[in-house]
Amino acid sequence: MEKNPKFRVLLYYQYVEIEEPDVFAKRHLKFCKNIGLKGRILVASEGINGTVSGTWEQTETYMNEMKKDPRFETMVFKIDESDGHAFKKMHVRHRPELVTLRLEDDINPHEITGKYLEPSEFYQAMQDEETIVLDARNDYEYDLGHFRGAIRPDIKTFRELPDWVRENKEKLEGKKILTYCTGGIRCEKFSGWLKKEGFEDVAQLHGGIVTYGKDPEVQGELWDGQCYVFDERISVPVNQKEHVIVGRDYFDGTPCERYVNCANPECNKQILCSEENEHKYMRSCTDECRVHPRNLYIQEHNLSEDEVKERIENLKHDLEPSV
Ligand SMILES: [Zn+2]
Repeated sequence: MEKNPKFRVLLYYQYVEIEEPDVFAKRHLKFCKNIGLKGRILVASEGINGTVSGTWEQTETYMNEMKKDPRFETMVFKIDESDGHAFKKMHVRHRPELVTLRLEDDINPHEITGKYLEPSEFYQAMQDEETIVLDARNDYEYDLGHFRGAIRPDIKTFRELPDWVRENKEKLEGKKILTYCTGGIRCEKFSGWLKKEGFEDVAQLHGGIVTYGKDPEVQGELWDGQCYVFDERISVPVNQKEHVIVGRDYFDGTPCERYVNCANPECNKQILCSEENEHKYMRSCTDECRVHPRNLYIQEHNLSEDEVKERIENLKHDLEPSV
């Protein structure tokens, strides 16, 4: 039987001036709710960035209506098929910036940005020996999948990226730099910032990883693992030719592509772990999280205090070297 998914997920952004972004956001939320979409959209005076899900008809209506607005008529929608909604609710939020680099002077990608490379150009450029590929995403995104050989900045949020570059300047100096991110929006600013910072040869993957994975020519080649996405799917495939798992189970280091959040709601750290280890370690990243009074795993499984103690004891025996 032919697969016929009824739903689609749209990923899009546009750097364009939006006057009264707070008013725009309120109206846009009504508009999206009327259509029946679910998702998360950010609106700033510098533009719009969204991921929404809906039926084929709903997403079609949204794209057509958006393109009637001259500000968004050239906006590129990356379209994924899906078995259902990728969100529970519809949010449209007004923010001071679409992506935050926490800079002295913010970057306007219309004024300064890295050279745009199409997927086939990026594929070629990656293989040049004088080139370094720099992942512009967070560490947990990199850990699930990345371009083969790409540098992993040790950062938890995008805001930390400029400091990381300044501290690791020697890795980048005199090289051709290629940057990439999920859909391209972060690289527009980041590559512009790199140029402003004095790096001369800076290019970015146009349309991001999701476009690269769908490109009929490159078909995601040289991508290892999965691509992290900020919706309920958590990850999407990229490389259509081969699937190399690069994710590693937080507890035992075996290949793994399954993300869960630490059961301590105050920690909430994303960890890769198998279903087996989720139960064994009570979905908690440390002993402290395991015994946290609000631990969600303990609540979900109705574990008594004694049962929790026993499980932690068992883990200690596990860690002792076998004789
Ligand atoms: Zn934790």
